[in-house]
Amino acid sequence: MARMKRANLIGGQETAPHSGAYFLDVNPAQPDDVLDEFPRSGVEDVALAVRTAEDGFAVWRRVPAPARGEILGRAGEILRARKEELSRLLAREMGKTLREARGDVQEAIDTAFYAAGEGRRLFGRTTPSELPSKAAFTTRRPIGVCGLITPWNFPIAIPSWKALPALLCGNSVVLKPASDAPACAEAFVRILLEAGVEPKAVNLIHGGGGEVGRALVHHDRVSAISFTGSSAVGREIAETAGRTLKRVSLELGGKNAVLVAPDADPEAALDGVIWGAFGSCGQRCTTTARLLVHESMHDGFVAQVCERAAALVAGDPLDEKTDIGPLVNRAQLEQVQRYVEIARSEGCKIAAGGRARSDLPGFFYQPTVVVGVTHEMRIAREEVFGPVLAVMRYREIEDALEWVNATEYGLSSSIYTRDVNLAFRAIEEIEAGITYVNGPTIGAECHLPFGGVRQTGNGHREGGWGPYEFFSEIKTVYVDYSGRLQRAQIDNR
Ligand code: NDP
Repeated sequence: MARMKRANLIGGQETAPHSGAYFLDVNPAQPDDVLDEFPRSGVEDVALAVRTAEDGFAVWRRVPAPARGEILGRAGEILRARKEELSRLLAREMGKTLREARGDVQEAIDTAFYAAGEGRRLFGRTTPSELPSKAAFTTRRPIGVCGLITPWNFPIAIPSWKALPALLCGNSVVLKPASDAPACAEAFVRILLEAGVEPKAVNLIHGGGGEVGRALVHHDRVSAISFTGSSAVGREIAETAGRTLKRVSLELGGKNAVLVAPDADPEAALDGVIWGAFGSCGQRCTTTARLLVHESMHDGFVAQVCERAAALVAGDPLDEKTDIGPLVNRAQLEQVQRYVEIARSEGCKIAAGGRARSDLPGFFYQPTVVVGVTHEMRIAREEVFGPVLAVMRYREIEDALEWVNATEYGLSSSIYTRDVNLAFRAIEEIEAGITYVNGPTIGAECHLPFGGVRQTGNGHREGGWGPYEFFSEIKTVYVDYSGRLQRAQIDNR
């Protein structure tokens, strides 16, 4: 099929970029397969999108929340009906296997139905007043135009995590998706429009992070920014937003560990480690990047991890037989290569993998297991964002728990044990937003809070009820029906 020039979607209209320039959307498994060309937008396009979103806000905020929920529920129905088609697009565009792509789309479906239900909640609180004949309660109000900046690794799920709660609360949105996954974002936004969201309330603008992303963050009519991506960009966004007092939600990196205790079920732990480390080719913020194994079982367990890693079938993500797809682009491939070299130079041994797959056309890298790692090494602390598992051997559980916490991040974590006391000790001592017991570090459910501590974020949570707090303001209301002046703190004592 001929390659098309795609457009921004502003107020439901296809809108060409002011620059007239475009970039290519490439299949990472076969870089000569170009999906389409997408707009290289700039400041003028962002200005138009934000103006449109302001108009959309004026309309959409007045639609009652249950009616907004019904529309978002309809979006869930459309997503469900097109799940296979969307999953295939997603796998082709960013390289996740079809099985995992279906999970990505399912997360958006689930998030839509959660949002639909939230339309009939959006609770405020009612509390007694300290004065007679006076009522006191709170209501939730939208905050305005929200800028959503999303990464490529969950190209339908993450836009849904942000856009659906923002819209349910009555805000309008301008979505700036990753340049590596613009087609998925467009498909998602078209579904929102088809479901009946006010067109001016949902705007999509493509282009580079340094141009479009920055312009959104700097724009004085944007009330909030919700961002998922690297810690470096997250820090820059927080600094800029701090100057204009924008509300900011940041979901950043991770260096997640699985701790395998000597009494763990070894089969369950092995399955969890392989899935956690190499699912999505290690390109999840919750990827299992570190494995801590007790010395009594270290050698045997690690040998099995290596064997299973080497047996994973790499190839076309659209092929049902494929276990592991490519990295998303050449820069990610080079980053992985760099970190494996760093591990080598730190004195580690590469027990499995350790090379790019030059026999395959795309950005493939072998599932890699690095052994002899200690907690102070860079390979144990810095996010690789690829299929590289750093293995540490421990003797005392106190050391292992300390090493789990020895990174600047704190997103996900896991312990495999059959000892309930140890499990609860780990829940208490591990500094992370998420702890799994007897499960891998990945597998978040959309109705539970998702996010991390320390450099992983700034305290907000996506998933569950958290984003409804983020995307709304509280208004406190007092109604005095006494017919006279009553002075709080004075007339009631
Ligand atoms: P970035 O943080 O650079 O990109 C995430 C999003 O932010 C993209 O939409 C990007 O646009 C945009 N962006 C980039 N620069 C700016 C800016 N200055 N202001 C506003 N928006 C901006 O991540 P990358 O995709 O480049 O990946 C780099 C690393 O980030 C990975 O190796 C990984 O370590 C981490 N990462 C973590 C993720 C997570 O889930 N926590 C997800 C993705 C990446 P554009 O795509 O056009 O550059």
